[in-house]
Amino acid sequence: MKHYDFEEERIRQEILRLNAKRVLIQLPEGLKPGAVRIAMVIEKFGALPIVSADPCYGACDLATVEAESLGADLIIHYGHAKLLKYERIPTIYVEARATLNVNETVKKALPILENWQKIGLTTTVQHVQTLDEVKEVLLHERKTVVIGDSGRLNYPGQVIGCEYSNAKSIAKDVEAFLFIGGGKFHALGVALSTSKPTVVADPYEGGAYSIDGEAEKIIKQRWARIEEAEKAKIVAVLVGLKPGQTKLEEALNLKKKLEKNGKTACLFAIKEITPEVLMEFPSVEAYVNTACPRISLDNASGFKKPVLTISEALVVVGELSWEKLCREGLFGN
Ligand code: SF4
Repeated sequence: MKHYDFEEERIRQEILRLNAKRVLIQLPEGLKPGAVRIAMVIEKFGALPIVSADPCYGACDLATVEAESLGADLIIHYGHAKLLKYERIPTIYVEARATLNVNETVKKALPILENWQKIGLTTTVQHVQTLDEVKEVLLHERKTVVIGDSGRLNYPGQVIGCEYSNAKSIAKDVEAFLFIGGGKFHALGVALSTSKPTVVADPYEGGAYSIDGEAEKIIKQRWARIEEAEKAKIVAVLVGLKPGQTKLEEALNLKKKLEKNGKTACLFAIKEITPEVLMEFPSVEAYVNTACPRISLDNASGFKKPVLTISEALVVVGELSWEKLCREGLFGN
């Protein structure tokens, strides 16, 4: 946990300013090991901390209902930038910027990038502050560097699991992307949403590698899932219940389209989409997930039945071609 800035002084001042007495703490899985320490710090600032132990994968998943039922007057949401426009309960976002130096790791990525001249830079909110330094490292190697800004995210170059518009906005101007960050999920998202070679510089592991082989594997898996779903007679359309994931209108539209396609389609409201939960419905042969698209990418092999994204479902009903979907990017906006 020593790699992150938890902005304790800002938290202290905000608790005082808002006169908060009961604080609900929300942390993504990677930061949960620090939960007790953070709670103790907040208690020292004079408020009662309550840690939300439920999974939290994004700022779309703000624990508003939980805070209301606990009588909390403040939510502190760690690890993500603000996403929802309005909050019913005052909310502080602590983006948990990484304090690691990324330059040495970026240097390890240079040999993998040697065949490309024009490089696009992307990262998660944890490392957006490093992009200028990374750019300098690449400029020193005589690369041309582009950082996209679609205006839809909080920072230029930033990506989140369902929003790659900063990368997509510059895809035609670059030959490859360099992604700064840990884990494979966001880098895969960059590769799949731009169809460009993507290299990861992971400052946590201190290594660099190409993600392209895995992206190709996922494309094959997704096509196999679409083919399976085409044969399905009974399909459930999942409607997410997390505040930033509910797309009821899109789910209703998909239900109609699937029915027109000769399938029986049923809406399922759901909070946590896991293989165990979906296994309870043996008559359902395929799912369309209108909630978090990450689930279809991240845990695909864990599900026994196809769990398609909205775009993949449009391929099934014949409204979108697979080639066009691959061209425009398999995941994210
Ligand atoms: S919908 Fe999924 S990918 Fe998008 S912000 Fe939420 S958890 Fe992340």
